[in-house]
Amino acid sequence: MPENSPVRKFWKCPSCQRIFKARNQWHSCRKVEEEVPLKKSSPEVLKMYQEVKKFCASLGKVHTSITINAIFIKCPSTFVALKPGKNWLDVEFFTLAEETGFPVFKSVRVSKNRWACKIRYEGEKEIWAVIKKYIRESYKIVQKKRPLRAGD
Ligand SMILES: [Zn+2]
Repeated sequence: MPENSPVRKFWKCPSCQRIFKARNQWHSCRKVEEEVPLKKSSPEVLKMYQEVKKFCASLGKVHTSITINAIFIKCPSTFVALKPGKNWLDVEFFTLAEETGFPVFKSVRVSKNRWACKIRYEGEKEIWAVIKKYIRESYKIVQKKRPLRAGD
């Protein structure tokens, strides 16, 4: 495929298996285990994390990218970022409009039609219902932007 093909392809680093937009994109090339960003988290937070991960996996063929303080859930690009604390899990996702009301505590415009929003999840059932709604929306936003192709 020509280098400037209009069809967007993703590049998988052969050594750490992480996926990037650009070929040979710079990144800290090492595998971080899932336990690392979660090492200070309470068992309740670990449970919340598993819950979110399972829900994301139910939406499509997702993969994760892990850094020392966050877990990014991708399909194929990031639609959820999880930042675990000791007693909470910060869940970040994309929306098409600014969200300011509770439980969203942060909303940053990242492009013309995209906001990155954040909810602090501490295990409440009502919040979880809201998070699921937002994650589903964020997943759709990422799909629309970059249609999946066979083999991606
Ligand atoms: Zn790498």
